[in-house]
Amino acid sequence: MAVWLKKGALAGDAANQDRKIRDTVEAILDDVRARGNTAIRELSVRFDGWDRSDYRLTDTEIKACLSELTGRDLDDIRFAQGQIRNFAQHQRAAITDIEVETLPGVILGHKNVPVNSVGCYVPGGKYPLLASAHMSVITAKVAGVPRVVTSAPPYKGKPAPAIVAAQHLAGADEIYCLGGVQAIAAMALGTDTLDSVDMLVGPGNAFVAEAKRQLFGRVGIDLFAGPTETLVIADETVDGELCATDLLGQAEHGPDSPAILLTTSEELARDTMNEVERLLTALPTAEITRKAWDNFGEVIVCDSDDEMVAEADRIASEHVQVMTRDPNFFLERMTNYGALFLGPRTNVAYGDKVIGTNHTLPTKKAARYTGGLWVGKFLKTCTYQRIDSDAASAMIGEYCSRLCALEGFSGHGEQANIRVRRYGGRNVPY
Ligand code: NAD
Repeated sequence: MAVWLKKGALAGDAANQDRKIRDTVEAILDDVRARGNTAIRELSVRFDGWDRSDYRLTDTEIKACLSELTGRDLDDIRFAQGQIRNFAQHQRAAITDIEVETLPGVILGHKNVPVNSVGCYVPGGKYPLLASAHMSVITAKVAGVPRVVTSAPPYKGKPAPAIVAAQHLAGADEIYCLGGVQAIAAMALGTDTLDSVDMLVGPGNAFVAEAKRQLFGRVGIDLFAGPTETLVIADETVDGELCATDLLGQAEHGPDSPAILLTTSEELARDTMNEVERLLTALPTAEITRKAWDNFGEVIVCDSDDEMVAEADRIASEHVQVMTRDPNFFLERMTNYGALFLGPRTNVAYGDKVIGTNHTLPTKKAARYTGGLWVGKFLKTCTYQRIDSDAASAMIGEYCSRLCALEGFSGHGEQANIRVRRYGGRNVPY
């Protein structure tokens, strides 16, 4: 039976915190609906100290951002973008349109049609998270989205050069510097200077994720991609230093980021907890990371690999790093996770920044029903049908007519009956 060696101090308070976030976001969205641009501008000043009449960056501003980066920086961004584009193109190639004849003369098909316009949020409150620009903008472009809008908050009082460079190099059509709920609202509802989009994607903090959730319906969204979560599954084949490094590497995202160790080795569990304390004395981002570990860090000792699979599926974490004797055991059995990182040679930071898989992933147990962002999320799989023979139309029409009668739908029934009469030459009673 699973035994907890450490529980997070705030782990039981999640519902209360979710309610506070929900209420805050609802009030902000109501304000933007009521007062439009004026509200957006005031909110940007209030939360980010950032005031402009038009939040779209000009070509001159974009060039100025690019010139602040070194050639090495730009090459690194281009390398990462190349990896993400390459994998996304392979994924796109695996998505096919179909057209089949299901009965003689009955043709059914589907086409994958890109969404027309997408708003890609790039987080940048605590860190300038340029990688999110690659993940959303490039993937949308590979899917064939014609208009890709992107917005990120100011960082230290101005547009973050690295984010703007990544947005531009990824191929964004419009780049805005606006953060948080106000950016999400601006893209979903439109402003005097920003035409609303059809779909919102990209990760963000709890406010951003909740704003997307509340606007779903008005616009499409990719998934619930809030504060980062990580789960390390490990056994005695690895050491505490490696596990602690991988836990803290993700806990530094924010004080609301859970980092959990599942292991069959109590010795490794204790070694990892000691290493966490040691590393926290040296990590430059320890202030945030310490809060995350104290609030939501957990260490769980299980009896077997099967029990770790069951616990991992219950936790349904965004990232799952597997460092055991046989990582494929978990690949074959686990069903609830955003992304798997198999073996000690890879890790979540590779996935977050550069390796090529998408880093926008489900949080808060959304992994029970969705994977992460990928080209398929930008495509609408739309069906069509055609009947190529009179006999087929009359035959389907007779079934349809009787089924409509069972439902009491006489108008629907007549749509079928008129075709039975015209294409089959048979009378159908009303
Ligand atoms: P952010 O850009 O998401 O949020 C910053 C914005 O939050 C600010 O512009 C501000 O307008 C708004 N804000 C701050 N305090 C507020 C308040 N009290 N009320 C209303 N609005 C407020 O940047 P961040 O804060 O650094 O967070 C980035 C998040 O993205 C992290 O939590 C990280 O874990 C998450 N993330 C998730 C994934 C994923 O795929 N799930 C991937 C990468 C990053």
